[in-house]
Amino acid sequence: MPTVPNNRPDQAVLAQVPDRICTWCKVPMAKRLVGAGRFIHYTCPKCIFQHTTKREDKPGSQA
Ligand SMILES: [Zn+2]
Repeated sequence: MPTVPNNRPDQAVLAQVPDRICTWCKVPMAKRLVGAGRFIHYTCPKCIFQHTTKREDKPGSQA
């Protein structure tokens, strides 16, 4: 497993996060992890609309 630099610790996680399109601008929103990586914070680069969603982490424990 490669070592992740400290300046971009969430890069690998964000790469698996689906993009979200701004409701009004129809452009991809910027993504960042918040809440110790439990939540995804989306920010629109145009209208600065913000949206936070909880990560759906399913580690395969579904019975
Ligand atoms: Zn927007």
